[in-house]
Amino acid sequence: MAIQVIAFDADDTLWVNEPYFQEAETKFCQLLEDYLPHHTVGQELFKTEMQNLALYGYGVKGFMLSMIETALRVTDRTVSLEVIEKALAYGKALLARPIELLEGVEEVLQALQDRYRLVVATKGDLLDQERKLKNSGIEHYFHHVEIMSDKKEADFQKLIRHLDIRPDEFLMLGNSLKSDVLPVLALGGHGIHIPYHTTWAHEHIEHHVDHPHFRQVDTIADILPFLLP
Ligand SMILES: [Mg+2]
Repeated sequence: MAIQVIAFDADDTLWVNEPYFQEAETKFCQLLEDYLPHHTVGQELFKTEMQNLALYGYGVKGFMLSMIETALRVTDRTVSLEVIEKALAYGKALLARPIELLEGVEEVLQALQDRYRLVVATKGDLLDQERKLKNSGIEHYFHHVEIMSDKKEADFQKLIRHLDIRPDEFLMLGNSLKSDVLPVLALGGHGIHIPYHTTWAHEHIEHHVDHPHFRQVDTIADILPFLLP
């Protein structure tokens, strides 16, 4: 392998993210239980998020606006201001949450830093991701941080061009096959999938990948034997 740059997804690859969103969503569904069953509120919220994705992009702020819109819709605009206030508070709590690194992350970055250029490639709110990185204590390992509005082929192509490397010198690691692996493989890069125990419905795909530039590992530390001969 002639890999020069290793790019890491951030949410649920470097640190915990999706479980916090799920906690907030559970609390939001509980708020509206007088109107609709829990799982129906969850489905309505997801529907709103998907409708708004192209407008708001990924991240907490879009999630907050989608909670408010869902509350208005499912209550036929009879929702109390207290519910709206709580939805905002749940979102703000997400934005203030301390960073919890996943096991093995720091050791892996330490082991790889002299051999490769390390990069973060994440989507989400710009300010929120910058805050998380700053508070993570691992920012200094990274040569470059790319906070992307999406992770499609064109977005990765831009990043690879910016890094001034060939696609086959680029390896992306992440918990989402759909966002972190498949677009990179399609460009001729390398992809390693590190599944996390929970995946946002939007990122979930049933897909068997069989590709010479692909592998799947159980934990981030399992990548080291392939990358440090
Ligand atoms: Mg992720």
